[in-house]
Amino acid sequence: MQEMNLPDDLEQCVAFHGHLCPGVVIGYCAAKLGMRELSAKRAGDEELIAIVENDTCAVDAIQMLTGCTFGKGNLYFRDYGKMVFLFATRSNGRSVRLRLQPITPPGISDVPEDQRRCRQIEFMLAHDPSEFFETRKDTLGSLPSAARIRESLPCDNCGEMVMSTRLRRRGDRNLCIPCDKN
Ligand SMILES: [Zn+2]
Ligand SMILES: [Zn+2]
Repeated sequence: MQEMNLPDDLEQCVAFHGHLCPGVVIGYCAAKLGMRELSAKRAGDEELIAIVENDTCAVDAIQMLTGCTFGKGNLYFRDYGKMVFLFATRSNGRSVRLRLQPITPPGISDVPEDQRRCRQIEFMLAHDPSEFFETRKDTLGSLPSAARIRESLPCDNCGEMVMSTRLRRRGDRNLCIPCDKN
């Protein structure tokens, strides 16, 4: 990837992600658009949530920019294999669903394969994200509930402590998922 002048916040996403690629720019643009549509700021706590329907490079930029992270519990992964990103604010229940449309800069088919990714990145950064994301508002019925601190209990087979919601009841025993599978 040739050198490009990138906005500072995109540089941060690239530093976190490890490389510049169309995927990280897609996530960057989705996060920008989603937060703009909801008038939301980066989530310090859990007021903003993101639901991603893919586990591509894009999700790293989403986490970096929106503050919706796996560890904080306000990033939800739905393994649907779609370039779809939903954002919602808990305080008012507003949500927006973004679906990526094909990134086809003019003349892209004449561009050598190795330069296409570069062209796609340039195209995305030169246009407003609303031009390549289809946007639907208020499509999320009920929001996933806020993360709670749950008590942990020992597995009756291996003895390791397990979040109570992940224990499985087998007869009179509580088993962790790996023990239950064996
Ligand atoms: Zn990447
Ligand atoms: Zn166990």
